[in-house]
Amino acid sequence: MDLAAAPPALLTRRHLHVAGDWVDPSSGDTIPVENPATGSIVGEVPAGTPADVDRAVAAARAAFPGWAATAPEQRAAHLDRLHAALAARADEIARTVATELGTPLKLATRVQAGLPLTVLRSMVDLAARPAAEHTVGNSLVVREPVGVVGAITPWNYPLHQVVAKVAPALAAGCTVVLKPSELTPLTAYLLFDAITEAGLPPGVVNLVPGTGPVAGEALAAHPDVDLVSFTGSTATGRRIARLAAERLARVSLELGGKSANVVLADADLPTAVKVGVGNALLNSGQTCTAWTRMLVHRDRYAEALDLVAAAVAGYRLGDPFDPATRLGPLASAAQAQRVRDHVDRALADGARLVAGGPDAPLPSQGHFVAPTVFADVHPDSALAQEEVFGPVLAVIPFADTDEAVAIANNSRYGLAGAVWSADEDAALAVARRMRTGQVDVNGGAFNPLAPFGGYKQSGLGRELGAYGVEEFTELKAIQR
Ligand code: NAD
Repeated sequence: MDLAAAPPALLTRRHLHVAGDWVDPSSGDTIPVENPATGSIVGEVPAGTPADVDRAVAAARAAFPGWAATAPEQRAAHLDRLHAALAARADEIARTVATELGTPLKLATRVQAGLPLTVLRSMVDLAARPAAEHTVGNSLVVREPVGVVGAITPWNYPLHQVVAKVAPALAAGCTVVLKPSELTPLTAYLLFDAITEAGLPPGVVNLVPGTGPVAGEALAAHPDVDLVSFTGSTATGRRIARLAAERLARVSLELGGKSANVVLADADLPTAVKVGVGNALLNSGQTCTAWTRMLVHRDRYAEALDLVAAAVAGYRLGDPFDPATRLGPLASAAQAQRVRDHVDRALADGARLVAGGPDAPLPSQGHFVAPTVFADVHPDSALAQEEVFGPVLAVIPFADTDEAVAIANNSRYGLAGAVWSADEDAALAVARRMRTGQVDVNGGAFNPLAPFGGYKQSGLGRELGAYGVEEFTELKAIQR
């Protein structure tokens, strides 16, 4: 047996990480961790309590003055050691994500393990820069760390979402309490193994696993947390903003999306469709930035639908550890059921099924949903408006560029998007008109230094790059 391709061994964790130590939780309650490709329980973690959150926040508060006063190059050196310790665990991270989330191992290696390393590397460089100061008239304007950060993260990119908060918070001089998703807590433990090995000062980063309603709410509502940085659903984001509003704590929210992929009449259609389908199905469609609405000019619509159906037929479902697998399961039975309900609703609403659907063949076990494409989706219908968070693509025709922009912007979300055209200026003009935080023109590559975040109900604030570090700072004006 090829060990590198096997599930990892250590899947039960019994401790929290507080003040630099692995410590016992205050309660014996645990949360089971499931392998969604089989439905079997593979491990468990403690169910953190409000008392555990109190202890972790106190540790972060105690560590804050020292970390905030640490020189930027020393903070960068800590992050550099953390990068090395995490990189040494890349295989184990990929195998753990493949096990607790079901991401196919190849994709888990490239994205689930690779992306956080890229982001952490960028933060090492940013941490080394002294905080920007500038003079305005008689004022010296300085940036200071905001304080103790409560970080609450989802399951779809279990390490990336954590690193995208923890690394810039540390770079800015903040200390952190992390509550990872209860569906994928094991990957977060690997980060804390790396934190221990890297020798970060005690209390600078703390881990309390647990459920959203108990540990998550306790962290979001905690009077000693200065900023709550949350990634997850828009509904939970609203709840967290309400809890933080009670004490006027800062919030950063990275929420849902329903992003539009606009394919203009002169686009390189085979490429636009191939990349577009790949984007919509990435991680079984459980990607907040997924281009889940493909908008195609009427002149190319029939041709595009044929290409979409052919592309989707190439996505083989199966065991995440099988190299032939291109699509894994959904993260949980509940998530798979939500996606099936969206498919049923789209059929009831009269959308035309082009691929997949409720009767498509599936593996005999696990929370699988077939990649599914609907054509002629009405821009106001539930499928065009609601985030499905599964492998479901809506294809919508448009007559001209104004209509394409209107459909793209007909959404309460505004996280990502794409435009394809042989005329880059025309594509850029459409990109500028889209009310969304990120737009990729002709497949422009992901840039870890670019700001990431949403317009409208896709969130508040930005992550990544220097913008992501600024999110964890306050501005102070000193008059002389
Ligand atoms: P979720 O909102 O259910 O949970 C996210 C996190 O919040 C988990 O850790 C959960 O335990 C916690 N939580 C739940 N209820 C809480 C409460 N009342 N108080 C405090 N914490 C609570 O989201 P999910 O199902 O884990 O993730 C899927 C959603 O996340 C999708 O809507 C997706 O679009 C969104 N998402 C957004 C981004 C982004 O960057 N914009 C990235 C990934 C996922």
